[in-house]
Amino acid sequence: MNPLGKPAADKQRCVFCGKYMAGHLKQCPFCREAVPQVQLSRRTGPDGRHQIRRGLLYMLLAGVIHYFAGGYSMPFQLPVLILPLVTDYLSPLLFLGGLGMTIYGLFLRIKS
Ligand SMILES: [Zn+2]
Repeated sequence: MNPLGKPAADKQRCVFCGKYMAGHLKQCPFCREAVPQVQLSRRTGPDGRHQIRRGLLYMLLAGVIHYFAGGYSMPFQLPVLILPLVTDYLSPLLFLGGLGMTIYGLFLRIKS
């Protein structure tokens, strides 16, 4: 510790006992716990696979909703009345949201 009460820059704090120790140590000299090493690999970051899958699922869901709520399934009619608001605005909005998420996932995939 320096006189201001703050730890020096080359010190690190033990995550187990909270005492300050030298930054290069791999093991805490007070409690003997190993210092966890921070992984800086790129595999842990988002690679967009999750976003692409979710976006495609939203687009498929919007297509199914639009198909049944819009009356395109003529022999099979839904027993409930669907408001035109659903086919006019909500299912295209869901489709566009899924498309946007897929594009975002592809962007993350290219970037990583
Ligand atoms: Zn410790």
